[in-house]
Amino acid sequence: MSVEDPVWAHGLDGACLCGAVRIRVERHRAEVGACHCSRCRIWSGALFAVFSAPPASVTVEGPVSVYPGEIAERAFCGTCGSNLWLRDNDDGAYEFMIGAFPGAKDYPLISEIYHDKAFAAVTLAGDHRRTDAAPYEAENPHLMEG
Ligand SMILES: [Zn+2]
Ligand SMILES: [Zn+2]
Repeated sequence: MSVEDPVWAHGLDGACLCGAVRIRVERHRAEVGACHCSRCRIWSGALFAVFSAPPASVTVEGPVSVYPGEIAERAFCGTCGSNLWLRDNDDGAYEFMIGAFPGAKDYPLISEIYHDKAFAAVTLAGDHRRTDAAPYEAENPHLMEG
């Protein structure tokens, strides 16, 4: 019998501000990553903070609008505008904005990317992993900021 990585969790419900979009996430990672790149900063309004889930674990109902991108799509409620997720174009994995999921309140922050690009007002405390833009893009050249 195999023991599953304890960071994997099951069953989380989310909803947008107006309640028109309802999201059910089964298997997902109960940990949070943050990104301070210009795309995520502008789209999120300040701080992009997400947990990830494989496509097969996700059920969505409601009027979702999608903003397509070269690397990933970004989805939001077409009625109230709440930002919901970023989804990688290659593997379709979801990165859900934690704010729409009350059950994610205690998920720990494990990593921050584009750390040197962070605005002072959203400085994050803690001993999580921090990666600056240059080393991150060196390892992920397709993610270069325009
Ligand atoms: Zn809504
Ligand atoms: Zn980003």
